[in-house]
Amino acid sequence: MSSAQRLSDIQLRIRQACEQARRPIDSVALLAVSKTFPAEAVLEFAQLGQTAFGENYLQEAEAKITQLADTPECPKLTWHFIGPIQSNKTKSVASLFDWVHSVDRLKIAQRLSSQRPPELHPLNVLLQINTSGEASKSGMSPAEAHSVAKEVATLPNLRLRGLMTIPNPEHQNDDLQQEFLMCQSLMTELNQSGLGLDTLSMGMSQDLETAIACGSTCVRVGTALFGKRDYPNT
Ligand SMILES: *Cc1c(COP(=O)(O)O)cnc(C)c1O
Repeated sequence: MSSAQRLSDIQLRIRQACEQARRPIDSVALLAVSKTFPAEAVLEFAQLGQTAFGENYLQEAEAKITQLADTPECPKLTWHFIGPIQSNKTKSVASLFDWVHSVDRLKIAQRLSSQRPPELHPLNVLLQINTSGEASKSGMSPAEAHSVAKEVATLPNLRLRGLMTIPNPEHQNDDLQQEFLMCQSLMTELNQSGLGLDTLSMGMSQDLETAIACGSTCVRVGTALFGKRDYPNT
């Protein structure tokens, strides 16, 4: 199947899920997750009109972002960091990306704010929430998110935009829905204290319909656009 066909299939799934949930069809953005795929694959989607891309691995992302910035036929892209962040990597994340979905502790946010180059717009950030309750999972608990969100909102070079979750991959149906709804209601609570959050990053290739039914405003789609990944641990 061609890239154009895969992209239009995903756009159709998003539109249908919005209709089903009685939400405006432009209320959900598509983030194309290009991890493990080369710059050429990104360029192909970019030339079809997809301009937001997500990456998990810093070194790989840096090479792609640099290459495509130097490619005259590539439209202007928006890059989202969605992978785990080590604190010794925040400087590169702060200078390369437009968004970070995976802020999982205050210290990371503080470093991103202080290392964001002053000539760039404030970095858009999401707090990653552990909605599965598993201790091994990354992300903060909903209880922690209340205090962290208040602090992050005061950091000068960040703009706190919302929340992100990666549910337990074994969860389906009610369990999956429960995780997404936990994130949605947390955002509602945070907004009651005036934070003005507008972004809920939830849903991937397999579960974007459920995520959209639960209020997602940004689905992160890799496999359904680029195909199966070969790398281990992805
Ligand atoms: C890899 C990845 C995705 C994409 O998952 P697919 O199942 O390939 O669509 C989305 N979000 C995060 C955080 C990822 O690491």
